[in-house]
Amino acid sequence: MPSKIMAIAAHPGDALFTMGATVAQHIHNGGGGVFVSLSLGEKGAPKNISVAEYGAMQRTATEKAAKMLGAEAVLLTYPDAEIPLNDQIVFAVCDLIREHKPAIIVTHWSGSWHKDHQNCHMIVRDAVFYAGLGTIARALPPHNPGKTFYADNWEDATNFQPDTYLDITPVCEKWLEACDLYPMWRGQTGFFRYNDYYRSLAVMRGCLSGFKYAVALMTDPNQRLYKVRSLG
Ligand SMILES: [Zn+2]
Repeated sequence: MPSKIMAIAAHPGDALFTMGATVAQHIHNGGGGVFVSLSLGEKGAPKNISVAEYGAMQRTATEKAAKMLGAEAVLLTYPDAEIPLNDQIVFAVCDLIREHKPAIIVTHWSGSWHKDHQNCHMIVRDAVFYAGLGTIARALPPHNPGKTFYADNWEDATNFQPDTYLDITPVCEKWLEACDLYPMWRGQTGFFRYNDYYRSLAVMRGCLSGFKYAVALMTDPNQRLYKVRSLG
């Protein structure tokens, strides 16, 4: 059975802009994909749009973008900028992992200035642990995803050291179209030029890896332990 990848982000923009091409490529390769956002990113609302209205726009954009890429979308509604770090949210993510049974998780790297991103990193770390632990009784049986990767995010750049390059050439244009469904992509809601940054990043990572377009990922340091009987 083809494996499933689950992207877990603090905000919908992070899910699509920094993890979307990875999910799209996994689906293109025959697997399945699901985007999980812990919040709607509603507090990024520009002055002329209410927070509630902007949250609804973010939801609509994410559902459309996921559909365009052939993925599922799960939008949780923890408050943007105030995503908590507690067992309730960890169990909510644990249950999603048990339900969707991903073989691969992509999420935020811990080296972020943004507290929601830092919390998401730790929530996922603990949710993966709980999801795989048979002695934690939940409605669904345990599931261990096996692999975790961290996404290349301009806000999570401290000590981000990519070690895995994924060729996204077949899905790059479709992924960029999906990102364009978000008002923030072209800078309508803030100062940052997401469109220019992530498009250029795909080119730059492609240059470094010998692909036309690529994303760079970082494996969990705990995954980098090799136990071998021979080095040759
Ligand atoms: Zn974010």
